[in-house]
Amino acid sequence: MLHKVTFIPGDGIGPEITEAAKRVLEATGVKFEWDIGIVGQQAQDKFGTPLPDYVLESIKKNKVALKGPVTTPVGTGFRSVNVALRQRLDLYACLRPCKTYSGVPTPFENVDIVIVRENTEDLYSGIEFAKGTKESDRLARLILETTQTKVKQDSGFSIKVISETASRRIVRFAFEYARANNRKKVSAAHKANIMKFSDGLFLAAAREVAKEYPDIGFEDVVVDALCMRLARNPQQYDIIVLPNLYGDIVSDLCAGLVGGLGVAPGANMGDNIAVFEPTHGSAPKYVGQNKVNPMAMMLSATMMLCHLGEVKAADKLEKAIADVIAEGKSVTYDLKLDRNQPAATTSEVADAVIEKFKNQGG
Ligand code: NAD
Repeated sequence: MLHKVTFIPGDGIGPEITEAAKRVLEATGVKFEWDIGIVGQQAQDKFGTPLPDYVLESIKKNKVALKGPVTTPVGTGFRSVNVALRQRLDLYACLRPCKTYSGVPTPFENVDIVIVRENTEDLYSGIEFAKGTKESDRLARLILETTQTKVKQDSGFSIKVISETASRRIVRFAFEYARANNRKKVSAAHKANIMKFSDGLFLAAAREVAKEYPDIGFEDVVVDALCMRLARNPQQYDIIVLPNLYGDIVSDLCAGLVGGLGVAPGANMGDNIAVFEPTHGSAPKYVGQNKVNPMAMMLSATMMLCHLGEVKAADKLEKAIADVIAEGKSVTYDLKLDRNQPAATTSEVADAVIEKFKNQGG
């Protein structure tokens, strides 16, 4: 079967790692038709928008995209394309598996955590009021009138929005994922003791939804305690479901536990559409050096194969990647214990994975 996939190289190191992922995908024998989408600064220069409609339309039509990282200008310039994509396509669930592979230098073994992060609201809603504007003055007055709290005059505001609907939806996604993937426990992280009306709502929704899944364990955990426990004993966690901001931070923490961003894949999923991309960003300092680790991008591609129903190819590809990591010869600098040791280039890693895939036979 031919799979039509929207292919977004992104920018920074994106084009190098997406090319490596495309090569290994094509080597599996699964047939793809790639629909290329340009986003970010390049699209801004060419089409006057960082997220052109034709890219959104392509993803809506194909229902699946493979995406490299995209740089977000800091402070000024356009808002994050990555956040906009998730919001415009209602990709409400961000799935980030964090698993230890033998051969990756890490203090922990046998970690196998899946982070399920809410993707559309919380502090990422984009509702902000800059310091010194009439809108922020108005908001400060409203806060004073309704809560008798006087905020400092030189305050800026970013609004945290958490809805019951989105909370139920993400927790249900986590439990459905648990069932489909033979997982045993869902932990819901929050700070409901402090933010009673936002995180409190998330927690209440999580507890309600958990009752529908008596076959799966459930616990809730305050997010700071979660971080401490993850740093001491990450093996106790299975699936962790979190609101957007905590999910972002904790998924990087978990990526660190299993050896770093170079091996942390991800997917952004809605009810009908899925966009596969690594957890890491565009690593601007390594652009064009053929140096960075393409494994996270390749593992995201493996998740895409699974999603497309190409489970056999996905399993074989994951094994090929795991074997290359375990062997430790054809890996990039970040997977070397001593960073001064000679390391493989991005494209050499792709060569090695393809070779391992072919040698498995079957
Ligand atoms: P980053 O993930 O790009 O880099 C963090 C660190 O990890 C850097 O030291 C980098 O060199 C290293 N790193 C990242 N990917 C690597 C890889 N594949 N192999 C080896 N080392 C790797 O995070 P950042 O520096 O905070 O962000 C850079 C840009 O990326 C920003 O503009 C940010 O907004 C954007 N970003 C995009 C996405 C996305 O497209 N989904 C996600 C995160 C950040």
